[in-house]
Amino acid sequence: MIKFLDLQKINAQYADELKAVASRVIDHGWFLQGRENEAFEGQMRELIGAEHIVNLANGLDALRLILRAYIEMGVIKAGDEVIVPANTFIASVLAITDNGLKPVFVEPELETYNIDIDRIEAAITPQTKAIMVVHLYGRTVWSEQLETIAKRYGLKIIEDNAQAIGAEYNGVRTGNLGDAAGFSFYPGKNLGALGDSGAVATNDGELARIVRALGNYGSKVKYHSEYSGMNSRMDEMQAAFLGVKIKFLEAENQRRREIADYYCNNITNPRITLPAKALNPLEHVYHLFVVRSDSRDELQQYLAENGIQTLIHYPIPPHKQQCYSEYNHLRLPITEKIHGEALSLPISAVLTNEEVIKVIEAINNF
Ligand SMILES: *Cc1c(COP(=O)(O)O)cnc(C)c1O
Repeated sequence: MIKFLDLQKINAQYADELKAVASRVIDHGWFLQGRENEAFEGQMRELIGAEHIVNLANGLDALRLILRAYIEMGVIKAGDEVIVPANTFIASVLAITDNGLKPVFVEPELETYNIDIDRIEAAITPQTKAIMVVHLYGRTVWSEQLETIAKRYGLKIIEDNAQAIGAEYNGVRTGNLGDAAGFSFYPGKNLGALGDSGAVATNDGELARIVRALGNYGSKVKYHSEYSGMNSRMDEMQAAFLGVKIKFLEAENQRRREIADYYCNNITNPRITLPAKALNPLEHVYHLFVVRSDSRDELQQYLAENGIQTLIHYPIPPHKQQCYSEYNHLRLPITEKIHGEALSLPISAVLTNEEVIKVIEAINNF
């Protein structure tokens, strides 16, 4: 069977080094807020180009704490609005609502699946304080127009960079384009820990200090709580694992691009719509390779029968979730179309050429 994502195989590539750093952490006997975290934050600063990296327990906390820090800074207040793409993983929206803020959903483009920047301005009200962009499926969403809108209305741009670590826009890495960014190192992400982890990137020193304090009980100085914070720290063990895996990220992202190109050039079945290519290949790190078909469920079934595992990202959009009943009435036809037609094909750095060819043949025979 061709697995959607073979985590065992991915980590087996680096098993010796991962085991060696695990021993190092155990022998050192220091498990939080230590030199492994410091070292990985340094590697991240170098990769992303941001002045500040704050390691945290997961990607959802990274996004939540960015917004919470803006509230502490007086930039945003309870009840304010945050623009967010309607087509995203639920965590982008949870970060907003957990802070008592209101998500304003904006439709994506069908071709890129990313927020349609042309629709943002119409969604702005006097209560709007921020735009959360999501580089969904690993594809950068950015433009001069976006920056101009944010400047004109005095809005912060927060990047949900959970899926696009390593991607670029005009030579700048995603996560260093806006005012602050949240990263996730969930095991299945392009840079995956062996458990949960996340981080915030920003060039705003005050924001970084507050995020760090909020993730550590609200304390900058031990036992002195400035904010009613939470416990959201990255384990030394995870930081050590990530310090190993980050060295291979560029090569893995390049392999993902190669596979995506191969899919794009060889899938010819007219019942399948391919994702639009980025003009600059560096703008996409293909966390997911998402095709569309109006017979999606049938296609998924057919591929399963042919030994190919696929997933749906995502079957239910945030505004249709049970937990957001107040938004269930919204009509967001482009988002709903994507959720009804999207299918994610296997993609990862350990997928072999033979497996890629098998997937292509099965899809073309469908
Ligand atoms: C994975 C993900 C998150 C949340 O990250 P966790 O580390 O799982 O908490 C947020 N947004 C998007 C778009 C994601 O894909």
